[in-house]
Amino acid sequence: MGIKSPRELYGHAIKNHYGLGAFNTFSWETMIAVMEAAQARRSPAILQVSMGARKYVGHFREYVDTLHTLAEQYDVPFFIQHDHCSTIDACKEAIEAGCQAVMFDGSHLPYEENVQRTRQVAEYAHEKGIWVEAELGRLPGFEDMVFSEKAVYTDPDLAAEFIDRTGCDALAVAVGTSHGGVRGEDYLPLDFKRLEEIVERKPDYPFVLHGAASLPPKLIDACNRQGGQIEYLRNCSEESIAEAVALGVRKVNMDVDNFLVFTTAVREFFNGRPDIYDPRKYLELARDAFCMEVEHKMTEVLKSAGRYEKDKGKRLVSDKGDFL
Ligand SMILES: [Zn+2]
Repeated sequence: MGIKSPRELYGHAIKNHYGLGAFNTFSWETMIAVMEAAQARRSPAILQVSMGARKYVGHFREYVDTLHTLAEQYDVPFFIQHDHCSTIDACKEAIEAGCQAVMFDGSHLPYEENVQRTRQVAEYAHEKGIWVEAELGRLPGFEDMVFSEKAVYTDPDLAAEFIDRTGCDALAVAVGTSHGGVRGEDYLPLDFKRLEEIVERKPDYPFVLHGAASLPPKLIDACNRQGGQIEYLRNCSEESIAEAVALGVRKVNMDVDNFLVFTTAVREFFNGRPDIYDPRKYLELARDAFCMEVEHKMTEVLKSAGRYEKDKGKRLVSDKGDFL
């Protein structure tokens, strides 16, 4: 099945009330992990590439080409999205490299400037049939290695206006999640009332949650038991993310939990088998741990699992563009 359009995947998720998981990939192991999880769970998924991954892989265009080629091997649908582009040029490069969707992040800019720049990106991208995700409001946590505790929640009226004025196809909102967690005692509360108000003003519009991995303490415990020294930062619980999906969130970025289990698998192997130096032995375990965590999110949080069993082989949109 391979790569489909964001319109098709979002349309299906909107019609069937589930969330699309957007998982950042950065290596052969992580690409395979996400695709195998999607296949095993009969779930659509978004293959995401961040600026960090782009720097890490070095050959960005070839990396995106590989995602395309690999996706063809699976019979569940994917699309490729570039996460957080802070400049219009970065968006253009992502489009040229073959991504079907780009995220332009102007959330740190003054409102009017965010509107103008997002609209510019949308005009450029739409001519090429590419979807644009934008962001309004500000999440606490790590952004480009800078840690901020400050959050600016998204205003529901402004969100609706922003969508109308910019023409963006999906909007990331700030309602309580954080990029990579913040210091605290308990799970962060999600502002469901605000989320409801946002969705109410634009029903059937794809709203997005960034920073929606949950950092469950048991995952940090598991890593620290193997010698890790991971700080116990807090984020929103998986139950609350699932509730946000039920309220209308259609794309959920969830990464750090996958990163945690990957690292734990490698640590565990090193502790248990210090005699082995074949990297394939531990990368295989790390890949499988990553895959299992993605499967867990699809089943328990996104409710995207099983969506492609009954729809296998069926078209998702009619010739007129209506969602089937
Ligand atoms: Zn983000």
